[in-house]
Amino acid sequence: MNPNELNEQSLPEGLHPDTLAVRVSIPRSGYGEHSEALYLTSCFVQPDAETSARRFAMQEEGYTYTRTSNPSVTAFERRLAALEGAEAAIATASGMSAILLMAMGLLKAGDHVIASQSMFGSTIKLLGSEFARFGVQTSFVSQTDVAEWRAALRPNTRLLFAETPTNPLTEVCDIAALAAIAKKAGALLAVDNCFATPALQKPLALGADLIIHSGTKFLDGQGRVMAGAICGSHQLIEQVFAPLIRTAGMVLSPFNAWVVHKGLETLSLRVAAQSANALQIATWLEKHPAVERVFYPGLPSHPQHRLAMAQQGGVGGSVIAFSVKAASPEQGRARAFHVIDSTRVCSIATNLGDVRTLLSHPASTSHGRLSEAQRQAAGVGQGLIRLSIGLEHVPDILRDLSHGLDSCGRID
Ligand SMILES: *Cc1c(COP(=O)(O)O)cnc(C)c1O
Repeated sequence: MNPNELNEQSLPEGLHPDTLAVRVSIPRSGYGEHSEALYLTSCFVQPDAETSARRFAMQEEGYTYTRTSNPSVTAFERRLAALEGAEAAIATASGMSAILLMAMGLLKAGDHVIASQSMFGSTIKLLGSEFARFGVQTSFVSQTDVAEWRAALRPNTRLLFAETPTNPLTEVCDIAALAAIAKKAGALLAVDNCFATPALQKPLALGADLIIHSGTKFLDGQGRVMAGAICGSHQLIEQVFAPLIRTAGMVLSPFNAWVVHKGLETLSLRVAAQSANALQIATWLEKHPAVERVFYPGLPSHPQHRLAMAQQGGVGGSVIAFSVKAASPEQGRARAFHVIDSTRVCSIATNLGDVRTLLSHPASTSHGRLSEAQRQAAGVGQGLIRLSIGLEHVPDILRDLSHGLDSCGRID
């Protein structure tokens, strides 16, 4: 078989994302399986030594070794790229390894990065500590104040890295405004689209150059596997990131790729249903007397509500953060733990984007390894609880949260 034929799938132009989500894949094998085959293999048998040599030299398409590529991984990459409206995507072992691959591919000693100070905790750690050791400097600026991003520019700024909405406070940044700043400075803008997913938000259409994904979250959607990806131009994906991941090795396993590939089929339905549940729950929390503040982009009280609605197709997503009323950080922590420990339906787990509702205490989990100063800059207080809303019946979740919230005052 012509190895190019191996890779071509003929679908008409102009299909809606809902169609792409269930149809973009790799061609069927000779057996005609309807559900995509899982290519659980570490290497591929070559027809002859000449062909093998050409494939290893990247002069001919064709699979050789799974660290370089694998059909199950290709299938996931294509479907995700189609949903993001990207020319190409490259899959990685986790969301963090996607960020690692991006930083390794784009940066060298002496380069400068601007990132939001309220990004995911491990992202702050990776850029602010690990890459600092290799001579890459990162300025952490306000998530929401575009002027701070502009003021942080230096002649050696190569990358602006934003995450919107952020984890856990759901702060929203203006992707188009940051893209304009990056473009003018000759830098790239990358957006971590983990919370909104392509079901709600398309960063490339707003001017971003790269999209980062943790496939572990909504793309899988059922909390089964770790996965990550970068989406972007053919040039960056094929010329920069693909050769690098082949060397560095943080590739997605075929099994995980297959699971996430299937997860994408139900992404838009899940995100819509979970977001609708989240809006009801956020509205209820906002009225609860034990709650100090609710952070949810779908609520009119959210500081960037209008921007979020414009950027996310009028939908707030399904992650909510809220703080309990407390007189001190110690009391806040005790009350938050009480609310968390009083639930019997929600899972106490530090993940999100699952069809089951999860709740966590960011200050002692996802943001536990940050210094107190970094935590405060990120706005993660001891009384804060993060909820990732699933598909359960809403009144069941409200009742579950009521147990602890209604008795908060009695535990001090
Ligand atoms: C979880 C997460 C990551 C990291 O993804 P992993 O798959 O856990 O490595 C990156 N960014 C955001 C916003 C996340 O929520």
